[in-house]
Amino acid sequence: MAEFSQEEKDNIQKQFEDLLQNSPKCHKSEETIALVRKAFDVANEAHYGTRRRSGEPYILHPIAVAKIVSIEIGLGSKSVISALLHDVVEDTDITLEDISNMFNPKIAQIVDGLTKIRGLLKNKEGQAENFKKIVFTLSEDVRVIIIKLADRLHNMRTLDSMSPEKQLRIAEETNTLFVPLAHRLGFYKIKMELEDLCLKYLNPTVYNDIFRQLKGSEKKRIHYLNRFCVPIMMTLEKNNINYSISSRSKSISSIWAKMQKKGISFDNVYDVFAVRIILQDVPLEEEKAMCWRVYSYITDKYTPNPERLRDWISTPKDNGYESLHTTVMGPDGTWVEVQIRTQRMDDIAEQGYAAHWRYKNIDGFEQSQLEVWMKRVRSSLVNPDEDALKFLDDFKLNLYATDLFAFTPKGEMHRFPIGATALDFAYEIHSEVGNHAIGARINKGKVVGVDYKLESGDQVEILTSDSQKPQKEWLKIISTSKAKNALDQIFKYEKRKNFVRGQQLLPKLLEERELPASPTIINKLVQGYGVADKNELYEKLGGDELNIEKMVEYATHKRQSKKITFWGLSFMKNEDETDDEQEESGVKVLRHSTNYTIASCCHPIPGDEVIGFEGKNGWVIHKKNCPSAIERQQTENAHKIKWISRQEQVFLVTIQMKGKDRIGMLNDISNVISNQLNVNIRTGHIETVEHEFIAHFDLYIHDSQQLNTLMMNLQKVKGMNKVERIEQQEK
Ligand code: MN
Repeated sequence: MAEFSQEEKDNIQKQFEDLLQNSPKCHKSEETIALVRKAFDVANEAHYGTRRRSGEPYILHPIAVAKIVSIEIGLGSKSVISALLHDVVEDTDITLEDISNMFNPKIAQIVDGLTKIRGLLKNKEGQAENFKKIVFTLSEDVRVIIIKLADRLHNMRTLDSMSPEKQLRIAEETNTLFVPLAHRLGFYKIKMELEDLCLKYLNPTVYNDIFRQLKGSEKKRIHYLNRFCVPIMMTLEKNNINYSISSRSKSISSIWAKMQKKGISFDNVYDVFAVRIILQDVPLEEEKAMCWRVYSYITDKYTPNPERLRDWISTPKDNGYESLHTTVMGPDGTWVEVQIRTQRMDDIAEQGYAAHWRYKNIDGFEQSQLEVWMKRVRSSLVNPDEDALKFLDDFKLNLYATDLFAFTPKGEMHRFPIGATALDFAYEIHSEVGNHAIGARINKGKVVGVDYKLESGDQVEILTSDSQKPQKEWLKIISTSKAKNALDQIFKYEKRKNFVRGQQLLPKLLEERELPASPTIINKLVQGYGVADKNELYEKLGGDELNIEKMVEYATHKRQSKKITFWGLSFMKNEDETDDEQEESGVKVLRHSTNYTIASCCHPIPGDEVIGFEGKNGWVIHKKNCPSAIERQQTENAHKIKWISRQEQVFLVTIQMKGKDRIGMLNDISNVISNQLNVNIRTGHIETVEHEFIAHFDLYIHDSQQLNTLMMNLQKVKGMNKVERIEQQEK
C-alpha cells in the first residue's frame, strides 16, 4: 500500500478542517461534530493508501463531495456524513452493517442508495432503464440524489485526468441524466456548471471558442456594466435600500444554445449582459412589493421591453424559483437583463430545495414544492411495467415543458404542461370527474369540448354527465401523466374484465331467446350494434353498453337502413317568406336543413340557445349570447332557431380515406364529421402504415347531397389525399 507523504497527510487534514469550519449545520451539538469527525476518520482509514487517477489521495474526493453538499447546497450533518462515506461500501471492506452500527440506520440507508446508483450506472442495461431506477430512489430519500449530484459534479470538475473515452462516456451520461435532474430539483447553478463541463468535453471546439470570446470581451463588458449599474446603485442608495448587485455573464452552454437556436453569432447573442440585484433584510410579507419598487426605480432610468417581463414572484416556477426579470435598454441601445430578487429567493434559485428546508420555519414554506414534485414523479411511476425508454421521454417532456396555470371556479390553481387540455384538467381534479367529462366552460363563458387546449389563466369549470365514459380517442388529447395513468388503467382492466364477462354472457342470452350462437348470428349482432368485431361485441356486452332488448331484432333482421334520433335545428322563417315546408308545433321546419355550419367562435351544442345568420355557404349557427353574434345582429337579421330531436330514416355508408399520417388526424376527421350535426358515426377505424393512414368510417347519412358535402369537407383536411365511398359488404 502506497504511503502518503507528510505533506499529503497534512493537506487531507486541512481539507477536512476546512469542511467542518464551513459547515455551520454540523455544529448543532458536540455529538454531531464528533459524528462528522468519526465519519471522516472511518473514510480516511478505509481509503488510506488509494489514489485517484490524478494521483491525489482518494479521500480528497469524498471530502470535496461533502463540501459541495454542505457549502454549495446547504444540507446538514447526515448528508455530510453520508457524502464522506459514499464510496466506502463499494471500494473498501466496510459494510452497510458496519455503517449502521457505527452511525445510524438512516445514514446506512443513504449510503446504500448511493452505492446502488453507482452499481446501476455501471451496468449495461441502457441509460433509460438506469435513469428510471435512479428516479425511483427519489422516493426513498431525496438526499441520495442530491449527494449523487454533488459526487458527479466533483467528478466532472476533475474529469481532465480521465482517458478521452471515459471523458466522453461520463460527459454523455451527465448530459442525459444529471443535467435534467439538477434542473428539475432547481439546482440552477449546478446545472449550469454541469452543462458547461459537458460541452467542454463533448464539443471542445465550440466550448473553447466561446470561452475565448468571453474572455476577450471581458474588459469591454465590465466597463459597460459599470456604466449601466452606477445610476441604479445611486438611486437604490438614495432610497436606503440594502442590496447587492452583481453582473452575471451567461454560461457558455446557454450562449451556445442561443447561438444554435437563433442561428446567430456570439456577438449577437441577445442578453449576454445580465445584472442581478439581491435585496437584503426584506421581511417575507414585503418581498413582492419591495421587488416591484426596485423594478420601478430601474425602469425610471431605463426603458423596459414589455415583452421580456417575467414575474416569477406572483407565480413561482414549478421547482420553486422566484424572481422578477426584466430586460431594459441600457446606454448605447444595448439590452440588459435585470433580475430582481431577495436573498431568500436567491438562495432558493442557487441551492434549490435545500434552501426551502432552511426557510422551512417561515410560514407558508412547510409544504415544500419538492414534495409536490415528488408526488408527481411517484404518480407517474405507479405503473412499474412501463417501458423504460418511454418513461424517460415522458420524464424529459415533463421536465422541459413550460408550465401553464389554470384555475377551478373556486380559484384553486393547478399547473399543467403547455398543450394540456380541458380533459387533463378534469383528471387533475379527480379521475371520476375526468371519466365523466363532456366539456368545459371557460372563464364563465364559452363552452368547449374536452379537447380544448388550456391557456394560462383560464378558469375551467368541467361539465360532466353520468352517461359519459372514457373514450379511446381521449388518449390522444391528454398530456399529463395523471390522466394517462387513469385512462390506461381503465382501458386495460375494464376491457379484459368486460370481454370475459361478455363472452360468457352472450351464449346464455342467445339461448334464452332461442337463437343459436352461430357465426352468422354473431356477425349480424356485430352489424346491428355497430361494433367493430366480435371482440368489441363481447367487450361492450360485458360492460352493459349494449341494449339487450334489441338483440332479437338485430339477430334476425337484415337491415339496410334504420330510424335514428338526431339533434337537428328548426328554423323559424321570416313572415314574408313563402315556403312549402311542413309545420310542426308552430315552427316551420326546413326538413333537410343540412346546409349549415356551427360557428367556430362560440361552438353551440344541443341545448344552448342559438340564432342563425344566412351566409353565402348556408346558415351559420351562433349562441344567442355570443359577442360576435350580438354585434352582427345590429346590421343583419338573425333567424330564430330551435334545437329539436327527431327520428329520421338514414342509410349506412362506408367512407374510405387515405393520406399522410400526422398527429391529430383522427381528431380532425371526426371533427369534420361531427360538425355536420345530422351525420352519425357508427364506427371509425384508422390504421397507419409507414406514415400513411387508411381510415374507414361507417356513417348514417340522409341522402347523397349530404354525403357529397361531407366528402368535400373531408377532402379539405390537411394531409388528406383521397376520400371515397366504398360499397357496403353485406354478409
Ligand atoms: Mn464518488
